[in-house]
Amino acid sequence: MEKFTKCWRYGGSATLALMIIIVVWCFGVRTPAYSISVDGNKTLVVASKADANQAIAQLPDSEIAARIGINRTFADRRDVIAGDQVLAQLNLALQPKVNGASLLVNGQAVLYMESKELAQQLLDKLLQEHSKVADDENLVSVGFAEDVQVVEGIVVAAWISSWDNAWSMINLGTVTPQVYTVKEGDSLWSIARAHDMYVTDIVASNGIQEDSILALGQSIILSKPTPLVTVVAQVEGNETVPIPYQTITENDNSVNGIKVKTEGKNGEKFIAYTATLRNGVVESKNIIEEKVIKVAVDKVVVKGRSVQVASRSGGGTSTGKLHWPVSGSISQSFGRGHTGMDIAGASGSAIGAADGGTVTFAGWQGGYGNFIIINHGNGIVTRYAHCSKLLVQKGQKVSQGQTIGLRGSTGRSTGPHLHFEVMVGGAFRNPINYLR
Ligand SMILES: [Zn+2]
Repeated sequence: MEKFTKCWRYGGSATLALMIIIVVWCFGVRTPAYSISVDGNKTLVVASKADANQAIAQLPDSEIAARIGINRTFADRRDVIAGDQVLAQLNLALQPKVNGASLLVNGQAVLYMESKELAQQLLDKLLQEHSKVADDENLVSVGFAEDVQVVEGIVVAAWISSWDNAWSMINLGTVTPQVYTVKEGDSLWSIARAHDMYVTDIVASNGIQEDSILALGQSIILSKPTPLVTVVAQVEGNETVPIPYQTITENDNSVNGIKVKTEGKNGEKFIAYTATLRNGVVESKNIIEEKVIKVAVDKVVVKGRSVQVASRSGGGTSTGKLHWPVSGSISQSFGRGHTGMDIAGASGSAIGAADGGTVTFAGWQGGYGNFIIINHGNGIVTRYAHCSKLLVQKGQKVSQGQTIGLRGSTGRSTGPHLHFEVMVGGAFRNPINYLR
């Protein structure tokens, strides 16, 4: 008997300790709360009845309120929804739901579609659109820059996009783009100018080419595209480009004036390149092979004693005279943050060197597109942006007026124009003061 009592007492204190632990644990992790059910299914837990009633009072009609039930419960503290989020969560719970698919970009749901198959078709079509290459180009690879996934599951029915809306969303970031109707005399460039946009953006939004011919009454999407995903395509291609001839000057005091001894002839070279396109816009271009097909013939000029070379005679900055590099209208002048002068006109027009000098850069330069820099000595440098084609190479000597490239709209450009810069002593100057 004695032994039994002892044993019971011992067991009793252990039970008490365990009960205390359970009670402490319960009130630490679990808490009394209220559960809200929708159509009989327990959906969310709130801290108080007041929280629940407040949200229910804000629902649009009593019919919806009738679908809701409130019950006392004992819940995990982490499951209790903050008071200010109850209405939003309740509205979400009241929405009809169906089986569908979510499109996740870097783990974030950005688009909902009827089925996984349809969402996959949307992505496939997008990749296909960006797999189109020019005649002399091959597609090396195409894919998304982001982590893009399609996940099947229950989604809110109202959030599901139709095919057209999903296509618009993934390409433009909106289903209600601003639309412009083409009128007589419009060009992509004039439309871009009038709406403070870039031609490249209009081209990207409308899936058209920069030199597309617009039809009267045609609808042009003006919204600057903010695609939900970035399609990166690698292409390889080749082209034949002219090698511009150089001009060599010989001095001969027995000759009067200037005489052309040999006419210059452009050569030709084959170029193989790789390029990276982001959502259809060329981001970078690298030449991987160059082969001369036809060597250029130097132009040889014989200069007599009496000849002064005007382009070289200007010593100081105030007398430096430059030739107009290309004809056209000044669509934007120098100043207020604009580092050069825009000379607009037909794409493909020959750009002449403003003065004789040495090419110090000829290549792709981000927003400048195809870009040329010429050093004329005496601290004078001229720069030529957005060229459709480059016809000179780094290190090449050019004479005044010699064709160095063709006018275009590469890089951040609002249409075919030459962005022409004059630098004197390392500072941008107004080109108009140096042109003659
Ligand atoms: Zn400009």
